[in-house]
Amino acid sequence: MSALSKSKKTFPKIPAPAPLSGPVAISSNFCGGNIVHVKTVVDSPTKCRVELHVDQDPYTELEDTIHSQWFYFKSNVMDPILGGPDKASAEVTVDYVITNANRVAYPSAWPGSSVCVSVNGKKSWERKTKTDYNKEEGTLSWQHVHRQYEEGTYFSFFEPYTLDRHIDLVDRCRATRGVNVSVIGRSLENRHIELITVGNGPLKCWINHRQHPGETQAEFFAEGLLTRLCGLDDFGAVDGLTHKARQAFTFYIVPNMNPDGSAHGYLRCNAGGANLNREWADTGDYKAPTLERSPEVYYVLKKMDEVGVDCFADIHGDEEMPFNFIAGAEGCTNWGPRLRGLQGAFLGAYCRANSDMQKEVSYDPEDPNGANMAVCSNQIASRFDCLGITLEMPYKDCYTCPDPERGFTGGRCARLGMNIVDAFMHVKDWLRTEEPFWDDLGADDQYVRPKEEWEGKATMMGQE
Ligand SMILES: [Zn+2]
Repeated sequence: MSALSKSKKTFPKIPAPAPLSGPVAISSNFCGGNIVHVKTVVDSPTKCRVELHVDQDPYTELEDTIHSQWFYFKSNVMDPILGGPDKASAEVTVDYVITNANRVAYPSAWPGSSVCVSVNGKKSWERKTKTDYNKEEGTLSWQHVHRQYEEGTYFSFFEPYTLDRHIDLVDRCRATRGVNVSVIGRSLENRHIELITVGNGPLKCWINHRQHPGETQAEFFAEGLLTRLCGLDDFGAVDGLTHKARQAFTFYIVPNMNPDGSAHGYLRCNAGGANLNREWADTGDYKAPTLERSPEVYYVLKKMDEVGVDCFADIHGDEEMPFNFIAGAEGCTNWGPRLRGLQGAFLGAYCRANSDMQKEVSYDPEDPNGANMAVCSNQIASRFDCLGITLEMPYKDCYTCPDPERGFTGGRCARLGMNIVDAFMHVKDWLRTEEPFWDDLGADDQYVRPKEEWEGKATMMGQE
């Protein structure tokens, strides 16, 4: 008998979950999961309507708001419906309805969105092309016919990138010769913030990912980038351009800035409710970054100050825009011919390397000297007087190359990650030169001032 068995220790009482009812069981109690099962309305043993709520991030003090929009859950048909004698032909039709869809962070993003579904565990994802947003009722809905051969059925806002996959990615980097992995800090909940260093060139290139945990696109991007830079898919062997890039640059890569939010299934916040991409400078009396509120940013910025930065990209996903795009430093006080030239040439090369990138559509650039310095890429472009951009990828289908059945995918995010190497290589000789290189840029490298408007925007966004 161990001492434990005699212990009088008591445990807090956990309220029993609601009894299972209807033909399907819903759960999001796993890494990155997010949903609240409100109720199931049963029409018949093989037809029902499942009502759901997207769960909320913690309160965000600086913005005085509560973010939400990311969802990811599992739905399984319960026995005996598909386990009975008619198993081979059995099917259950379920209408899924998110009934608080109009109370999320960006309700205007729902028109044109399509829910991701995987019917074979988490192995492959496609889209529910008939996802419907009803603005009057505030509902997002789709139908799924569950069939007996489905392993496990998952639904989500975009393909999930779990913390386990992140840990596996970092471990693969750690085990690769020529790649260094260091833990440079910890999150509020004591998860590691890892910095991956590769290359030994004089230029310092930093790429940060997934400050916003619900933007899983960003970590697929990191996986593609690291696969190319570190040769993760070929025992450390790399292509010729990557070899040259590792001689020109030292790359500093943070694959996940927000492991706590990633584990909890949040859209934009860390465990304490901080929106990390507003924590890179004080805002009025609000101090940032701080160890109490945003250690993830505090440690990364401290390391950037120690090492220095010659060029920078911050990787995100955008709920509304059906495009890949970059948002630049137009509002920073150091914006001028040099940064404009660098940004134009960088984006020109990026588009040539990967046709999923484009120049014309982005957020409307900030007014001169109007940049929010608490936003990461503005802070870095200004602090280090360097090329600094935010890169956004879509949740929706990508309008430059539509594929409605799959939408934009994790695999395409990864390929954009690989191709950012081409874009940085194109501008490497200009990053720190005193020469007026911008006078001689080719037509394809010229800066294009982007617009937030595009053809089809009105129907896509549901605007009047
Ligand atoms: Zn973001």
